[in-house]
Amino acid sequence: MPGLIESHTHLATSADRAAAEFELNRFIYGGVTTVRDMAGDVRALAELQRAALIGEIPVPDIHYAALLAGESFFVDPRTRASSMGEVPGRVPWLRIVGPDTDLAQTIAIARGTWATGVKTYASIEGLLLARIAAEARRQGIPVWSHTHVGPALPMDVATTGVTSMSHVCSLASAAIPDEVVAEALAGRRSAMVEVDLKDPRIDAVLEEMKRRGTVLDATLKVGFFREERMAAQDSLATPPAQRNVQSDVQTPDGPPPDPRRRGVRAACSAEEGVTLTRRAFEAGVLISTGTDAPAGRAAEWPALHDELAFLHERVGMPMEEVIRAATRNGALALGLEADIGTIEEGKYANLVFLRENPTAGVGNLESVHFILKRGRRFNRNESSLEPRPVAGRRAGTTCFAADAHLQGDGGTAEGSSAQGAFS
Ligand SMILES: [Zn+2]
Repeated sequence: MPGLIESHTHLATSADRAAAEFELNRFIYGGVTTVRDMAGDVRALAELQRAALIGEIPVPDIHYAALLAGESFFVDPRTRASSMGEVPGRVPWLRIVGPDTDLAQTIAIARGTWATGVKTYASIEGLLLARIAAEARRQGIPVWSHTHVGPALPMDVATTGVTSMSHVCSLASAAIPDEVVAEALAGRRSAMVEVDLKDPRIDAVLEEMKRRGTVLDATLKVGFFREERMAAQDSLATPPAQRNVQSDVQTPDGPPPDPRRRGVRAACSAEEGVTLTRRAFEAGVLISTGTDAPAGRAAEWPALHDELAFLHERVGMPMEEVIRAATRNGALALGLEADIGTIEEGKYANLVFLRENPTAGVGNLESVHFILKRGRRFNRNESSLEPRPVAGRRAGTTCFAADAHLQGDGGTAEGSSAQGAFS
């Protein structure tokens, strides 16, 4: 079968070559031949990309984003972690955009980092997003957007014709009542609201995505990962009042909204994410397989295998469709469908050879015999998952993750976090 494509990972939120190589090694020997990094320190990513391309290290091919966001986003500690030594918001790969930004120059500079996509992350108005998408199209680079870049709502994002939209749960933001959105825009409210997930405006977004061929980078894994982590924190007996992350609704009379927040967002559990993914699939929207979350340090397989199991077992996608999501749709999400994603003459020889039939069960994806990437062979039984010693600090992957938990987010279950290290 074609090599698997992880369409949402973070390898260098805080540059750590040994930790990134460990993760990438697990990817390639798990059948993943291409990864898309969705924001991090491009100086580190470019070096890994070079090493991957010339076969210096056993890793998948690496594609990465240059991130654009409104100024208010750049108080996020991860932006400092990803631009150490420089000023976040002013470096070519993490850049402030606003109504007066010279977009032709900004996108040209992003392309100069060897980023293969522009990621629109947060604090961007719908009109500005449309101008970014148009300029990126003119310069031939895809836009990889969050589904909700606040204040731009999912429909604002879908109508710009971006290449992919990340985080299925953010589709719920399409169902936020108009008056609540207006209050948020007026700065009177910044919080998580409960919405009706059956709202037809969600279906309208899905219809638009289908019409345009926009790929939904669902990232179910990060939702479950986050809930597991919160449950683990709960078990540490924190008083409930101190850990309720959804109780920060600001009334018009209340204190001013935290400027780091980006308007109102819809609450959505991991299980509701599954329901929304099923609805997207049934509506005919292309789904790619990104995780936005790391596998446990001791895990044998990359987190992508969990995402594939979620799509098959919980969403109910047939294995043929799961495989298509992880291969052809991943290529479409990256804008690389001419080179990878299917087995066709003229495309790269990115292939996974399995001992069992993968259409007969998701577990058979773990019967990997060997992998080819651009024709180079990697034998599963030669994989070594011994992490390299890390000098100076603990290894670990920090997630530049879904915007539902940007603040007060202490990194991953197992490692250091950008926030812990730099704030
Ligand atoms: Zn992410």
